[in-house]
Amino acid sequence: LHVQNKNVVLLLKEVLAILDTQAILKNIRLLTEIQGNLPTISCEPNQIKQVFINILKNAMEAMNAGGEITIAVTQCEERYICIDVTDQGPGIPEDRLKKIGEPFYTTKEKGTGLGLMVSNKIIQNHKGTISYESEIGKGTTVKIKLPIMQ
Ligand code: ADP
Ligand code: MG
Repeated sequence: LHVQNKNVVLLLKEVLAILDTQAILKNIRLLTEIQGNLPTISCEPNQIKQVFINILKNAMEAMNAGGEITIAVTQCEERYICIDVTDQGPGIPEDRLKKIGEPFYTTKEKGTGLGLMVSNKIIQNHKGTISYESEIGKGTTVKIKLPIMQ
């Protein structure tokens, strides 16, 4: 790992700039709720950006009717940065929730089923956690927790 001290918000902003056009075309608003004065974390920046891309792409792919995706970034439990990505997609049924992140598990015609597996691995390598909460008909929240110090 090529580790650097970075503010995750800067990484997130770079990713949002990349996904902006796609979001507009799908009638999706990408909203951020960012706590002030967040500490930096030691991380491999390109890997963390890859995780943000994977999660946000999934959220956008789940929202064919358009709507809002909210990305909240806070300091949580004192020593962590929490990033919660909430979409207004159809949600994931409970029996499927267990399977997401398994290699090659996809429900998409042209999916690879690798995005979340890779994301899980990257977050694990950073000694963080990733979890998924979902409500049918309401949407899905992906919760990432990254330690401030390693
Ligand atoms: P892929 O996007 O190629 O299918 P992923 O590993 O990124 O692979 O996602 C695996 C599966 O998890 C998706 O096919 C989809 O069924 C489900 N999924 C992931 N994110 C969401 C989401 N935000 N809303 C609904 N389903 C999701
Ligand atoms: Mg994906």
